[in-house]
Amino acid sequence: MDVFKPAEPILTRLIEAGYQAYIVGGSVRDYLLNTPINDIDIATSAKPEQVIALFPQVIPVGIEHGTVIVRDHHTSFEVTTLREETTYSDHRHPDAVHFVTDVVKDLARRDFTMNAIALTESGELIDPFGGQDCIINKQIQAVGNAEARFNEDPLRMLRAIRFSSQLGFTIEQKTKHALLSNLPLIREVSIERIQVELEKFFQGTYLTEALTLTETKQLLVHLPFFKEKSVMIEALTNVTMSFYRLIDAFVYMCLNHDDVTLTAIYKSYRLSNVQKREGRLLLEAIERYQQKEPLALIVYHLPSHLYERFSDLVARSGLDALSLVALKQAHQALPIHSKQDIALKGNDLIQLFPERKRGKWIGEMLDQLETNIVTGNLPNQREQLKEWVTWSYPIEKKSFNY
Ligand code: ATP
Ligand code: MG
Repeated sequence: MDVFKPAEPILTRLIEAGYQAYIVGGSVRDYLLNTPINDIDIATSAKPEQVIALFPQVIPVGIEHGTVIVRDHHTSFEVTTLREETTYSDHRHPDAVHFVTDVVKDLARRDFTMNAIALTESGELIDPFGGQDCIINKQIQAVGNAEARFNEDPLRMLRAIRFSSQLGFTIEQKTKHALLSNLPLIREVSIERIQVELEKFFQGTYLTEALTLTETKQLLVHLPFFKEKSVMIEALTNVTMSFYRLIDAFVYMCLNHDDVTLTAIYKSYRLSNVQKREGRLLLEAIERYQQKEPLALIVYHLPSHLYERFSDLVARSGLDALSLVALKQAHQALPIHSKQDIALKGNDLIQLFPERKRGKWIGEMLDQLETNIVTGNLPNQREQLKEWVTWSYPIEKKSFNY
């Protein structure tokens, strides 16, 4: 139970104030699976304003749904008031949320039995839907009527598949049947929510197995971008390892399909600027490698935190293997790490060529110096660089008018 120690003060405070409090969700499931837990979520009978009153550091993230974040010793805990949900007429949000005092009602609104187990402060499990049995049998089973649960919130179908990729579980028969008969409803779900699940799906330890499942293939066909490129879904069955990130999986798809571009993917998904930049840098690095550019140039243009992911993508693409060690060594051997390190500056160039108007040529000349220094063709020494530019770019002769 040591893994739950950080949550103890929060549970104790709520209970001492007269409320019920439980640990719920993924951390209970992962604890029962004996795998490392992520965030600890807490469910309580206290209303959000009562939670706010009890703790000094609270971030009100979703008060209308009963959720606040309590910060304690630099850790965040999502504390959610026990609640019941009514109908979902838009397949997105419950029409109303009712706070309740019965933890079983709160567990009943959760997606799968393995995610519907509560843990009390004294270490007792409350498991009204047979979640522990499902964990033992490695099964993903909807809480209650699967058909109705997927209808309420179709994202749960994608969650089922991402859990099968993460945990290697199979989807229980009735749940799978309901999933297969409600597939098109996934189109009602917002792209942001889809992306969160896809990110976890492509990182799953059992991704290879999950990609061969009929339910996965059939669900992917209904997702943005994949629906226009359905041949790719079959090709994905060749994938033999999980990806570091969703964007890496997208880069892999671009490499394997001439008609797939990052631009098209960026149009379908709301990726962050960081994700977009990483995708572009990884793809550029692989293209450089394919074109047999010097390794020095490749590692120079690629931020070092992406080396491992680059090496992984190279391995998947059938190119000659490139180890992380080789990349780090090439990085260490670099004579410069950015344009700022070039021993000759823009101002020096202006002085060397007083006749030339300021313009694009300065940047172009620096680019050339940069490439030549990185690849070892030129030493990064001021005098030698000066000499090189004056020889390579002779002073323009003034034209004479006779
Ligand atoms: P992870 O370890 O990847 O975070 P998780 O099970 O904790 O997995 P979360 O998305 O963090 O997943 O959700 C926390 C809990 O909230 C779930 O375990 C489940 O009980 C409940 N839950 C989340 N999303 C839904 C949903 N769409 N429908 C019903 N219950 C949900
Ligand atoms: Mg979670």
